[in-house]
Formats: sequence, structure tokens, C-alpha cells
Amino acid sequence: MSKQVRVRFAPSPTGPLHIGGVRTALFNYLFAKKHNGTFVLRIEDTDQNRYIEGAEDYIIEALNWCNIPFDEGPGKNEKFGPYRQSERKALYKEYADQLVASGNAYYAFDTSEELNYHRTDHESKGKTFIYNWHNRLKLSNSLSLTEAEVKAKLDAGDDYVIRFKSPQDQTLHLKDIIRGDIKIDTNILDDKVLFKSDGMPTYHLANIVDDHLMEISHVIRGEEWLPSLALHYQLYTAFGWEAPQFAHLPLILKPTGKGKLSKRDGDKLGFPVFPLEWNPEFGDIAKGYKEEGYFAEAVVNFLAFLGWNPGTEQEMFTLEELIAAFDLDRVNKAGARFDPDKIKWFNHHYMQEQSNEDLAEAFQKNHEQLATIDVNYIALVVGLVKERATFVNDFWNLSSYFFVAPESYDEKASKKAFKDDTKTIMTDVLGIVSNITDFEVETLQKDVKGWITSNEIGFGKVMMPLRLALVGALQGPDVFDIMFMIGKNESIKRIKKLIDTL
Ligand code: GLU
Repeated sequence: MSKQVRVRFAPSPTGPLHIGGVRTALFNYLFAKKHNGTFVLRIEDTDQNRYIEGAEDYIIEALNWCNIPFDEGPGKNEKFGPYRQSERKALYKEYADQLVASGNAYYAFDTSEELNYHRTDHESKGKTFIYNWHNRLKLSNSLSLTEAEVKAKLDAGDDYVIRFKSPQDQTLHLKDIIRGDIKIDTNILDDKVLFKSDGMPTYHLANIVDDHLMEISHVIRGEEWLPSLALHYQLYTAFGWEAPQFAHLPLILKPTGKGKLSKRDGDKLGFPVFPLEWNPEFGDIAKGYKEEGYFAEAVVNFLAFLGWNPGTEQEMFTLEELIAAFDLDRVNKAGARFDPDKIKWFNHHYMQEQSNEDLAEAFQKNHEQLATIDVNYIALVVGLVKERATFVNDFWNLSSYFFVAPESYDEKASKKAFKDDTKTIMTDVLGIVSNITDFEVETLQKDVKGWITSNEIGFGKVMMPLRLALVGALQGPDVFDIMFMIGKNESIKRIKKLIDTL
């Protein structure tokens, strides 16, 4: 790649960042790092009506949690700053004026009532109203009015917008790295508003001006922006600037594979659609992957596969491996199905890779019953049960018996395990266990199993009630591991308790 790679993630702070936005940020990050480039964060807050307090902080926290921080952006390496469009407000008017002066844009004075009238009128005739070459001369703008009329309106302070003058009878040849060549007939395009009467640019103008001034080399964004590509190309041409390369990422589809995954799907379908919890002053709390117990690495690995694949069988990727393997030519056009079970699968795998000590600390923090227990002991327990866990929150259910004696015995299991002779058998087992002086797994195994074999008792007849005595259910790792872990006194206590209840 000849030109210095500079990409940007350009969210609008209109609420919490959707998981699809995190995917866009991730692909930008991976592409930047792969090509030793720069990952820029730009806050597109020109739409004052949709601005939500706290959204920008949320976006930054989410990127940091995913370990994909920006290199340049608000408050960081402000080489091309400011990075909030609201703080760049003064700059855009000049560019809008430039387009008017060059004949690529024009003032339009139509009120919203007038435009609504045209819309409904067209609808009643089964047509769609498009403000463009077709009818612009019949509307109220600097192309249809005389110079004097326009001046009078501007001098009087009438509300106006600046619209792009989309050309007639041309074919645009657009390029997209993922989608290839796209041909667009300009006759179907409308004259988009570039600048609004409130003195703010629209997304289109601000986005192009900033991408140019910030020397963005590649625009990597969601497919929903593909319809804007024709206008963006024309704006670059109108300004006489070289356009960046574009890559529009595939849509993220609902788990059913039908329709786009929306912000509301999480609550409906029972899985988070946000990286972090969003807790607004008013309204409902939205769940986040972090708070639900997902590891950031699992979320990142999962998101990387939403629309991209390495072309090999490998599924587990560290961030470094993703950077090395990633490229835009392996990003698909087709929508990517969001599979909440797959992200759990990743979490389970990442769980196995975490150290028992780190997991033990997290486990201890979540459960006050563990506050006084030696973290080394908790780590040993974690080592025995983590294979069956997806979340740190699963540990307690899987391992509580390592810390507290069972209060009851699983009913179904009891029916299966307790027979007429169980009391006698367990009394014998108690005797054997009590006699063991070096309380090691091997000794326990040798003595108990030896006794079972020499007395020709069925293994289940001994091991099932023994397990129930220790665990309260027919689950958990090897019985002798459990006894070793809880120690001789506790093992004896639990066996005795079972005998008493029989
Ligand atoms: N502000 C736009 C958004 O919220 C950015 C689109 C783009 O990347 O050009 O997604």
C-alpha cells in the first residue's frame, strides 16, 4: 500500500454503541494495525436533536474494553483535531459556499410545509417526490429564482438549506473493495441537503470534508451507508479531491438469518446487543456483554468472524493473530448471521485459556461466601470445574460443595443411589476413610476401590451414595479429588451426615 493508511471510526453519539458498531470499529482497527496505519476516532455529532449525553464516553470505554483503542481522536494525538464535528462547525460553511460558487450546489428556500405538500401530492398520484434535476426548476431555489430574488431572501434572513446539484444523464462508476465496481445512473439521485438552516452541515458534507482534511485513506463502514456512496464520490469530484478507497461491511443479521439485527433485538431475543451495559437516567437499562460475564477477547474473536473469515479452519484468534490474518479481500458481501450461541462457545474457550488464579480472583469477588477462603484453594477448585463453565458466574453452581457441605440430596439421584444396604455400605466406607492417615488421592482411591473389589460390591452402589454425601448431586469431578480437596475431617463429616439421614 503506497499511501499511509489512515482509517476512521465515525460514530454518532446518539446512544450506546451497538455491537455492529463495535464490529465496524474492530475492522477499522485491524486494517490500520495490519498496515502500520492510524486508527482515528471522530465523533459525528452534527445532529443536535439526536445527541445523547454520555454516549461519547460509552463509545470510548467500549473500544478500550475491547482492547482496540484509537490512536488519534478527542483528547489524544490531536494532529488533525478537533475530532468532534460540533467543534468544527465554523469550518463547514466555507466548503458549502465553495460548492455553491463552483455551481455544484445551490440554495433552496422551500419550507417543510411546501415539501410535505409535494410529497403527499406525489404519493396520491402513486409517485415518489425526489428533489432533483427533474423538478428543481419548479421549486424555490437559487436555480429557479433570479439573482435578485435570492439575494433578497438571503438578506431577509429566510431559512435556507444548501443542496447538492446532482447531475443529469450521467453514469457514475463507483468502486468498493468488498463489492467491486458499482454503476449508478445519476437520474435516480436526489439533490441531498449538505447544509442546514441551523448552521450545521449534514452528515454528508461534514463526513467528506473531515475525511479529506483528516487524510483518511480508507473508509470502512457498514452497508447502510452504501446508498450514500454515489453522493460522496460526487462531492470528492466537485471539490477536486482524491477520494479515499471504500469498503462497505456486510449487514449483521438476526439469529434467524432474516432481517437486520436491531438495537431492540437484544431485549426481545434475550442476549446483549451492546458491548457494555447502558444505564440511562431515564428509560431501561440495556445489557452489555462485559457485565454479562463475557471476556473481551471472546467478543472480539466472535465479531471478527461476522463477515470475515481467514480462509482456514482456525477459529480461535488472539488480537495479534487477527491483525496478521485480516484483510478486506476476505470480507464477504453477504449478510452475517449473529449467533448468540457462538459467542458463548468462544467465551467457553477463552475461559479455558485464562489462568486459574485470575479466574479464582474474579470468582471470589463475585461471592461473599468466598471472602475468607484462600485464593489458592479457590484456584484449585476452578481448575477442576472450569471445563464445564462458560462464565465465571457458573462457578458457584458447579463448585459450591468445595466450600460448603450440601444441605440436601438431589431427589432423583437419591432414588437411584440409596438402597436398603446403603447405610451399611457407607458405614464401612466411613471406617475406611477414617483409617487413612496419608489423605492423598492415590491412597483414597487404592483403599476404597480395593475394598469394593475384594467385597465384590457394585461400584455404583458405593460411589453414587458417596458422591451424594459429598456433593449433594451426581455431578462434579472425581470423587477422590473432591475428598482430597475438602480434607479428611470434612469428608468424614459429610459421610456421617448422610448415614444419619438414611
Ligand atoms: N456517523 C456515521 C454513523 O453514525 C458514520 C458513517 C460513516 O462511517 O461514514 O455511522
